Amino acid sequence: MSQDQHADPEDISGLRQRIDILESQLEEIRLHTHVLLDIARALNASLDTRVIAANIISAIVSLIGINQASVCLYKEKTKDFEVIGVFDSVTLSPQIPPQLNLSFGAQVLSEGVTYYCSPQGQQDWEWICCLPLQNAQRKIGTINIHAIRQPEITAEQMEFLETVAGHASSALENALLYAIVERESITDGLTGVYNHRYFQKRLREQISLCQRRKRSVTFGLLIIDVDNFKRFNDRYGHQFGDTVLQTIVRELQTNLREGDLIARYGGEEFVILVPETNEKIILLISEKIREVVERTHVHYPQTNQNVSVTVSIGATLWRPADSAASVISRADHALYQAKCTGRNQSVYE
Ligand code: GH3
Ligand code: MG
Ligand code: MG
Repeated sequence: MSQDQHADPEDISGLRQRIDILESQLEEIRLHTHVLLDIARALNASLDTRVIAANIISAIVSLIGINQASVCLYKEKTKDFEVIGVFDSVTLSPQIPPQLNLSFGAQVLSEGVTYYCSPQGQQDWEWICCLPLQNAQRKIGTINIHAIRQPEITAEQMEFLETVAGHASSALENALLYAIVERESITDGLTGVYNHRYFQKRLREQISLCQRRKRSVTFGLLIIDVDNFKRFNDRYGHQFGDTVLQTIVRELQTNLREGDLIARYGGEEFVILVPETNEKIILLISEKIREVVERTHVHYPQTNQNVSVTVSIGATLWRPADSAASVISRADHALYQAKCTGRNQSVYE
């Protein structure tokens, strides 16, 4: 074998070193890919924006030294932000970093570019980073990070943060779309109150809640029906009739308590579920509703008149032997009595 067929031992050790470096870089890439896959899985595993926000924050905290972080959702209507997740390494009750106020987030989101205020080699310095969460269709929110006396973000870490932001954007967008679909599936399109199906679900829940409780708690049920509404539509038109239904619902909403459930039972019929009540209260509520509707006037522009409708109400309380069907049927019967004996009144049975 000739001399020049032997490799130089120095070259070999140089090559070995190079291979070691490449292997460790490969290992790091593998680790990052795994971490990113885990993050993508975790982010897409939930449709709850607050769970997603918590996952975003723990992904960031697991790989980068930071002190505070928050995830905010952008509200297109109000041009405002809602904080849906916060992390603070120091205090137990996390605050939003003052450096990352929400108007700053709006600026970053409108520019659509990550903001990073780098310490540029200075010691004892702090850095902030604000990542926009968005896709081609919409602005979703921001991830805000604040670090004190932590190493600067490296180019790889920034790439990681931006990849996390990309996954976070799709996960949050999915969750927001799901929330819209979910809300639409339980509400009535014309009036915005719950629909018949959701009312039935809540009625059954309310019944099993009362059945489980030892003490005699009950709930009230009101069925409200607009009087002579067919005639009203014939005179003023169906569209104006719709406006009147919307106005009635608004009045119901402002005159009932938050815990009371209003639903559209059918065409011009509404139901109200009043939890933890008694006969005296339910009578007061139904009479109040009847009066409120009677007093409410809606402007009819064609003739420049203020017009109003009246309602008849059937009221009842749930009794321990009642099923969902029997309690509805009693309220319905009371409503029928109210209609038969003159309308614009409430009857309790
Ligand atoms: P009663 O006092 O006996 O309840 O008389 P009514 O005319 O209200 O009762 P009826 O059941 O005969 O008619 C209900 C009317 O309600 C018929 C329909 O035109 C109207 N209606 C039902 N749903 C809607 C709706 O979404 N918008 C409008 N504008 N009208 C509706
Ligand atoms: Mg009716
Ligand atoms: Mg009617």
